[in-house]
Amino acid sequence: MVCIFCEIISGVVPVPARGGKSSPQILYRDDLVTAFRDIHPIASTHILIVTNRHIGSVNELEPEDASLVGHMVLVAKQLAAQARIAERGYRLIVNPGAHGGQTVFHLHMHLIGGKLARYALE
Ligand code: AMP
Ligand code: ZN
Repeated sequence: MVCIFCEIISGVVPVPARGGKSSPQILYRDDLVTAFRDIHPIASTHILIVTNRHIGSVNELEPEDASLVGHMVLVAKQLAAQARIAERGYRLIVNPGAHGGQTVFHLHMHLIGGKLARYALE
């Protein structure tokens, strides 16, 4: 089955442009994770930190993935500082499974901060 995040990570599909502007590219990449902007942002900063390896959800994590998950949080912290939202605060959200709100079944963490879209507050 085609996975949109695997395609973005591998470069098959370009990271979508935000608001019709030219592509914002990959914001961060290392051996373990890749970060790019959410295509439907609910705040002025809405970044997805995605594992490079396809892991369907939190439910598929194994004990040996502990450092990978810790790394995702530390990358989120770094990106929050870069986006200048660290001091005022932000959300780090993971949605495992359909009832958890997961819509893309490739493990990712949302980094959400700055000005919230109106509908995100409703
Ligand atoms: P979740 O509901 O936690 O699985 O989050 C999936 C997120 O991926 C949603 O916020 C979508 O807006 C976002 N999304 C889906 N497709 C893309 C894409 N091609 N590029 C960037 N973000 C995407
Ligand atoms: Zn994938």
